[in-house]
Amino acid sequence: MSDRSFDVVIVGGGLAGSAAASVLARDGFEVLVLERETTFRDRVRGEWLSPWGIVELDALGLRDVADSVPRVNLITNHVGFDDTISPDRADSEEFDLATLPGGGCLAVGHPEFQEAMLRNAVEEGATVVRGAQSVLVSPAASPAVSFEHDVLDEIGGSEARLQVDKSFQFGLLRFTPKAGLNWLSSQLSNHDFGVSDCEATVERPAYDLNDTFSIEGGFGLFIEVTRDWLVIANTGVELLDEQVTDSPIVEKDYVVKGFLAINYLF
Ligand SMILES: Cc1cc2nc3c(=O)[nH]c(=O)nc-3n(C[C@H](O)[C@H](O)[C@H](O)COP(=O)(O)OP(=O)(O)OC[C@H]3O[C@@H](n4cnc5c(N)ncnc54)[C@H](O)[C@@H]3O)c2cc1C
Repeated sequence: MSDRSFDVVIVGGGLAGSAAASVLARDGFEVLVLERETTFRDRVRGEWLSPWGIVELDALGLRDVADSVPRVNLITNHVGFDDTISPDRADSEEFDLATLPGGGCLAVGHPEFQEAMLRNAVEEGATVVRGAQSVLVSPAASPAVSFEHDVLDEIGGSEARLQVDKSFQFGLLRFTPKAGLNWLSSQLSNHDFGVSDCEATVERPAYDLNDTFSIEGGFGLFIEVTRDWLVIANTGVELLDEQVTDSPIVEKDYVVKGFLAINYLF
């Protein structure tokens, strides 16, 4: 593989990368896709493909791929309803999505859709490498791309997250405190925070971890500022396992996380 040359190297076989790979390979380009994940996991990245997204799929000749995903569902009616919208208001604002270009929106499992799109890229002739790690792009007149490949899935390992939360509604504001416990198997702990013998230096000695646990706490805010504008915020702190904080490549005892989104409803 290292000696092969390609017209295009795409780093990341998400929906965008695999769509580009399908189209380019179909047009006769030699395409390589480097994807980090060996199996796509559910990472909550949206399962709602908008009408204009469907139009793009049609234009790219990829609509059949979406339609082949198990349990895909074309939604043709939209009724916006949640704790802050009364049923009367929701009913009065019912919207016929079938009138839009695309004829509706698709509810489709994101990981399953990614698998189908990447499979399609292969069928169109692209070369796909799963489990590609440490991708390095060297720009030059003849650019080079190098990567490591965990071909035997040597990292392996598992992780689990347990979270409890409770929502409190104050007028247009919903406040959701949450707490969680995370577990990382020794393989993944070592992959993320360990130092192998071959990577060790005088300043950075070899370091090995067992399974690690971390706890996290935080809160989410959901504010309906007006009927059309929403603010969604999440923040939290993860307290790292002592084994992790003792690692020579970790400087802090905690990780602060934050997410802010401002939504406008069309
Ligand atoms: C919470 C949330 C909800 C969302 N809801 C919706 C929605 O309802 N509808 C909608 O249309 N959009 C939604 N989105 C946006 C949508 O998920 C993204 O626009 C879309 O996934 C982007 O696709 P992508 O292929 O560019 O990136 P990604 O889906 O992020 O794919 C990137 C790929 O690259 C791989 N990768 C990353 N780095 C490397 C590396 N260094 N080497 C090798 N591989 C690598 C990753 O493993 C991944 O497979 C949502 C996003 C979030 C976060």
